[in-house]
Amino acid sequence: MDRNEATDVLVIGGGTAGFGAAVAAGRAGLNVILLEATSKVGGVMAFCPGMPWGAAYPADVIIGGLMEELTNCLAAMTPPAAQKRPCTLENFGSEIQYDHDIATLTMFEMLETAGVQVRLNTTAIDPQMAGAKIRSVTCYDRNGPFTVTPKIVIDCSGDGDISAKSGVPFTLGDTGGNMMGVTLSFHMLGVDWAQAFGGDDPYFKLQAAKGITQGRLHPDLAQLYLMRGFHDDTVFCNSVVIRGVDGTDPVAVGNATQEGRRRCHQLAQFLQSDVLGFQNARMAHLGPTVGVRETRKLQAIYRVTGQDLANNTQFADGIVCCDNPIDDVMRTDARMTHDAIVQTGGYYTIPFRSLVPQKITNLMFAGRIICADPVAFASVRGMPQCMAMGQATGLAAALALETSAAVQDISTIALVRALQAQGVNGLGGVPLHPPTKQAPSSG
Ligand SMILES: Cc1cc2nc3c(=O)[nH]c(=O)nc-3n(C[C@H](O)[C@H](O)[C@H](O)COP(=O)(O)OP(=O)(O)OC[C@H]3O[C@@H](n4cnc5c(N)ncnc54)[C@H](O)[C@@H]3O)c2cc1C
Repeated sequence: MDRNEATDVLVIGGGTAGFGAAVAAGRAGLNVILLEATSKVGGVMAFCPGMPWGAAYPADVIIGGLMEELTNCLAAMTPPAAQKRPCTLENFGSEIQYDHDIATLTMFEMLETAGVQVRLNTTAIDPQMAGAKIRSVTCYDRNGPFTVTPKIVIDCSGDGDISAKSGVPFTLGDTGGNMMGVTLSFHMLGVDWAQAFGGDDPYFKLQAAKGITQGRLHPDLAQLYLMRGFHDDTVFCNSVVIRGVDGTDPVAVGNATQEGRRRCHQLAQFLQSDVLGFQNARMAHLGPTVGVRETRKLQAIYRVTGQDLANNTQFADGIVCCDNPIDDVMRTDARMTHDAIVQTGGYYTIPFRSLVPQKITNLMFAGRIICADPVAFASVRGMPQCMAMGQATGLAAALALETSAAVQDISTIALVRALQAQGVNGLGGVPLHPPTKQAPSSG
């Protein structure tokens, strides 16, 4: 292996968490390499194109930071490429709808201007340890293996392969090892919104029951998640869930994607023939692979619990606010639940310590591999929070290198101040205030 590269920070995974981590570290003046195994940034956002950024407005106030900056940038375009809208589903607050392709381009540009070296189609395979540190990471692209020698690794891979191979203990899914279902999404274009959403059943249960009884829809499609897309007359179909898939097994993910394609086409045909408003619609933007909700949860200094959420806990080292419901998707059976965990107007924060392993001194993680119990995980996993977790770890990397500290020893007070300086709201004892003026909304 004759290719070796050194860098300050190696970010593994270019999902929303990896984007946040890489931009924050790059803007802090660090050399950053971002590895993404696929051909696009976004992670689940790219695998399920058009999926709204949920949970960006706990207590109806934007979380701030990079999420706010990206949204404002898109919203300021002509015509606007993002908008705050109420979520039609129970217990979810407002969310951000956006144009998928413009958002992806904008994220690439933010990475570029932050000086991040983005390596697409490149996978981190194996860490090499030196005592309590990751010394280097073996990676692969189409030219074969190469080594990156980083000062700090931020694992934003969703699945945590490198952290697990480095010896960080983990659990898979809930206490019984059950992981949430994976989903293949698509759009319907040319839908008459007024007709499609004119009823009072947000989950289209009656129509779904008919399709299941007639054997035209899979029995797991008892609730149809059909949401107005960002563009008029488009509908985002986040309905097809495949259960019992281990998202760390590429063969299982491939098989689930193929099964998902079948069920998505069946659903599209059913919508066209049986659901009002879809008569002239056609299918588009079928995801390239299923979106994986849940795999490993790494062990960190602190494990966020459902009780923390229910108590509206605002940690001293909290790095982002959240009020998302417990959004549990078919872990053990075909049920989908969205039970509120905080009362209206309440929120909790996600502590930095849930992103820091106990032992390895130059590794952090961010995004859906956060250390959380199964209840808390079902709430903390929204894309805005993943992006903010990434932003916090990127800034923490800069603090650790500035002060030659292990990631476990950085000043969390300084970290929270740095996040506040970057416009992250509701941290360090400063409450999230109700907005004095509502942001423009589609109503
Ligand atoms: C079907 C579905 C619906 C959802 N609905 C919503 C919603 O409506 N709103 C919302 O806000 N959130 C939603 N979520 C949750 C949210 O999308 C995810 O929790 C979030 O995107 C996770 O971000 P992440 O960056 O942690 O991980 P991912 O998005 O999983 O990104 C990880 C990235 O790392 C890459 N990677 C993995 N291993 C390696 C490696 N070894 N080397 C290099 N790259 C690697 C992957 O290719 C991927 O791009 C949904 C999730 C799913 C699956």
